[in-house]
Amino acid sequence: MAAFGSVFMPKMALATFENDQWSESQIVASDSISLHPGAHVLHYSSTCFEGLKAFRHEDGSVHVFRMDQNVKRFSQSSDLLSLPKVDDAQISQMIVDIVAEYASDVPQPPGSMYIRPTHIGTEAAVGKAAAPSESSMMYVLLSPVGDYFAGGAKALRLLLDEEGQRCAPHMGMIKSGGNYASALQPTLKAKADYRADQVLFCPNGYITETGAANFLIVDGNEIITKALDSSFLHGVTRSSILQIASDLGMTISEREISVEELLERAAKPGVEAMLSGTAAVLTSVGTLIHNGKDYTVGSGDTGPMAQKLRQALNDIQWGKAPDTHGWLTKIA
Ligand SMILES: *Cc1c(COP(=O)(O)O)cnc(C)c1O
Repeated sequence: MAAFGSVFMPKMALATFENDQWSESQIVASDSISLHPGAHVLHYSSTCFEGLKAFRHEDGSVHVFRMDQNVKRFSQSSDLLSLPKVDDAQISQMIVDIVAEYASDVPQPPGSMYIRPTHIGTEAAVGKAAAPSESSMMYVLLSPVGDYFAGGAKALRLLLDEEGQRCAPHMGMIKSGGNYASALQPTLKAKADYRADQVLFCPNGYITETGAANFLIVDGNEIITKALDSSFLHGVTRSSILQIASDLGMTISEREISVEELLERAAKPGVEAMLSGTAAVLTSVGTLIHNGKDYTVGSGDTGPMAQKLRQALNDIQWGKAPDTHGWLTKIA
């Protein structure tokens, strides 16, 4: 099967910002855009994006999951990058319009339609290294995706990195291209040196997140994760899992976690560690690597709590459990 996110629907929704206003959005071909080679985004990384999903229910209806949260974050990322101000109502309508256009192509669960809103600075101005782009473009791409765990859900190996950081701390809560470029070398090195799947960045000995996912620990009835601050990405999956855990009567602890505490806890039987994000929802961490040594977490395999919480979230997304928090927007 094609790699996640490598197949696109032939059309997308697009709007441009010029002369202090947004154009009306249009549905256009998704295989190309026209950009000046001096465009701000290509030189000074004025770019941010979102990742959310539309799901097909058994009755054939199509629903987008927590669109308001992703739109809010998209808007916030754009503000923090000094891109033109996003019109939340317009980008929401663009998402609705393009998903409606391809409603019949939304895959059945466990597949879904991955939605990628993108905002880029388009002004041709290589002199603007320290000034914002006055024009921009935003578009919404769609990519049908299959079962993320088609090859079986394998527990991950995570390298704990206390030296480096994923991105500059003031960029942490922005879903912006440069942050992924920044995390790439440490991640590739961890793969080559330790057969690690990902790096858990722990600057100053405290856990933040991996290149593209949040980190959570389950210990008995307690779920523990880093408290929100501006140094890392506030995942919608993270907040959804915390809400579901709270609905299940679990204790939610949002606080700092040191590497020392993590390694101590991980040694306890029944403790689970997991990563959360829209693409894979929740993935178990089987091994932590620290100072060249492997530490097995719990059984070292996919844990029962990760499975249970992932299932509970999928049940809401797939229309198999009531949407008690109003997380779904019906499109068709
Ligand atoms: C997208 C992303 C996440 C996960 O966010 P979700 O809203 O749950 O998909 C976590 N960390 C980083 C760095 C991300 O880019």
